[in-house]
Amino acid sequence: MDSCGCSLRENSIHNESKPKVASVNGLCPTNGALGKRVEMQTIKAMLSISLNILTSEAYRFCADPDCPTVYYSEDGQQVFSEADLRERVYKKHADDKEISICYCFHHTVGSIRSEIAESGKSTVVAEITAGIKAGQCACDIRNPEGDCCLGNVRAVVKEFSTQFQNPIQEALP
Ligand SMILES: [Zn+2]
Repeated sequence: MDSCGCSLRENSIHNESKPKVASVNGLCPTNGALGKRVEMQTIKAMLSISLNILTSEAYRFCADPDCPTVYYSEDGQQVFSEADLRERVYKKHADDKEISICYCFHHTVGSIRSEIAESGKSTVVAEITAGIKAGQCACDIRNPEGDCCLGNVRAVVKEFSTQFQNPIQEALP
């Protein structure tokens, strides 16, 4: 859909179906959800602990806000939580206005919300797109999802735009 040109896919594949066995490759050992594969360079960039603990060739990202596990090895033997990382993770704190949503250009959920509340619109997608075109983005090593942030950003812009354009509707049951 909205390819950003940074050669990373924008949308995560988070399978919501309930797995029967939690030890199947690719499923989060903590909550059993299917996370998306992340590149090794993302794991290496994000971990704050010594990288000599890395045991697997493949790791995945768990996007479930209720699951403490951020990364896990595909063999299910290793899990990393935010305590092991250099960044707080947007998907785990989407309701926190201080949380980064665009890690390359320092946009937060709160900064996007404020702009829309004050001006009725958002310039954030255009700003990020311009940065990407200028070769300034580094989603693979700065975004914990290892992926372009525009999917998350667009969803938040849409949510706040709806909220501020239809305050009466918002208040109805
Ligand atoms: Zn999980």
